[in-house]
Amino acid sequence: MAALDLGLDLALDPAPFSRLVIASTNAGKIREFRQLLAGMGLVIAAQPGDLEVEETGATFAENARLKAITVARHSGSWTLADDSGLSVAALNGAPGVHSARYAATDPARISRLLHELAGSSDRTARFSAALALADPNGNVRIEVEGLCAGVILEAPRGEGGFGYDPVFFVPETGLTYAEMDQTLKGRIGHRGRAFAQLEAPLRELLAANQVAAAQLPCR
Ligand code: IMP
Repeated sequence: MAALDLGLDLALDPAPFSRLVIASTNAGKIREFRQLLAGMGLVIAAQPGDLEVEETGATFAENARLKAITVARHSGSWTLADDSGLSVAALNGAPGVHSARYAATDPARISRLLHELAGSSDRTARFSAALALADPNGNVRIEVEGLCAGVILEAPRGEGGFGYDPVFFVPETGLTYAEMDQTLKGRIGHRGRAFAQLEAPLRELLAANQVAAAQLPCR
């Protein structure tokens, strides 16, 4: 096989790395990733609408891996998956990987959280975002995790954001996530921090893939 003769890893990379599927059907998430990945020369696509991946992992990292592997194998494309959520110390890490399923709506999720924390003096919490990149064969090639430490306020503050943003206060900024602009949240937030770790290895992988593709005969 030409790929093996060249000593390159193309046997693992059947599809050229010019298209990246985001393992999500959430339009907001796809938009956020499109923005973060702008300038990398990648065509960004959403996962096929008929595919549902059950998030059965015990950690954010496990769920990100699971989604990346499943969607990559199904789509035959390079795939980036994320899993994120809020872990509260006094609740033994809850809602954690169940953050999205903690209640039916964002206001109900916040209400439940404030109710469960009522009277607790320890209100420390952290947001986590795990990212996993899988190649078209479903091999995980990059895994990173970003964290942002904060405390849960007793009442919501701020109009922006989504989810638990209005009650998640980040002491180093004096603001809740819901009071931050996108640039600040992108810089100090859990997803931004995860993405900052992803960027260099992703650029390396892209460059290696382009070199390998250029050396393939008859392309
Ligand atoms: P998933 O990563 O799509 O599984 O979503 C996890 C859940 O965690 C979301 O539905 C939100 O409730 C919560 N979450 C994740 N990131 C954020 C954030 O940046 N702000 C507020 N809530 C978030």
